[in-house]
Amino acid sequence: MTDAGVFTVSLDTELAWGSFDKGGVDRYGDAYRQTPAVVDRLCGLFDAYEVPATWAFVAHLFAGCEGHGGDASGSGDDDRADWLASAPCSTGVDRSLWYAPDLLETVRACETTQDVGLHGYSHLVFTEHSRAAAAAELRDALAAAQDVGLDPSSFVYPRNEVAHVDLLADAGIDVYRGVDDRWYERAPLGPACKPLRFFDEAAVRPPPAVTPTERDGVVCVPGSQVFRPERGAWARTPAGSQARRARKGLDRAVETGGVFHLWWHPFNLAGDVDYHLSALEDILTYVDTLRADDDLELMSMTDVADAYRDGRWQQPREESA
Ligand SMILES: [Zn+2]
Ligand SMILES: [Zn+2]
Repeated sequence: MTDAGVFTVSLDTELAWGSFDKGGVDRYGDAYRQTPAVVDRLCGLFDAYEVPATWAFVAHLFAGCEGHGGDASGSGDDDRADWLASAPCSTGVDRSLWYAPDLLETVRACETTQDVGLHGYSHLVFTEHSRAAAAAELRDALAAAQDVGLDPSSFVYPRNEVAHVDLLADAGIDVYRGVDDRWYERAPLGPACKPLRFFDEAAVRPPPAVTPTERDGVVCVPGSQVFRPERGAWARTPAGSQARRARKGLDRAVETGGVFHLWWHPFNLAGDVDYHLSALEDILTYVDTLRADDDLELMSMTDVADAYRDGRWQQPREESA
């Protein structure tokens, strides 16, 4: 007998922070403005289906800004000072796109307790900056979290670029999301992995059930599947492919006792919210059936880390395919 499978959800919650260095604020501005409504509806779904999701917040979203000029010594180094000088709070971007404490309040008001984690302080990409800059980023993120009464234990790396895991441990973080468990995500392919992602979606290939591991004192829970909006090139994938793939991933988690880890960016659901939320509800309906049969447990990333530390997933699998 294997243990039940596990379903976990993580959400990269960032607004303008997620794309300002790629020129995306104009492109996604409308979607960012609709994000509070999307978050509200996601919380409604998570309450209806009792889903304890992990919300990885860019911490500056709930920290007002007194400016970052003249703060080079406290910013980690000149590298981070330059980064912050180019950030939305420094460059006149509409305040509602980079400061949105209401998003946090919505998540905290859920009846089903949500796991509020971090997605950096200013979405600094750890692999592109110095270790000192990464340390300063974590320090500022934790301070902002503590100011609003949070004690975060989960972390999602900006752009999923994993580095300096030991700094997370020093900061009291228990768990991070690893890159999706696909060979092409683990290989340093850069943009070359895009057609491979498209193939998986177009062919409705089953996503993996993943197994948590530990690295430098922090539990790593790789991703299984991104819930992709059906627009742009993704509109050419089969309608409803996300939900069909997710059901296959959930089946795999049940068969193996592994974790099916679904993740996405809330702003990506803006525009055609009804359509995408109904696809998500399809998935959650299936989750509910599996849970009713005791085949599946729902956990936040933090819950997964706690279970791992209690010994789950640490025995070699008995059955082999
Ligand atoms: Zn700022
Ligand atoms: Zn991000």
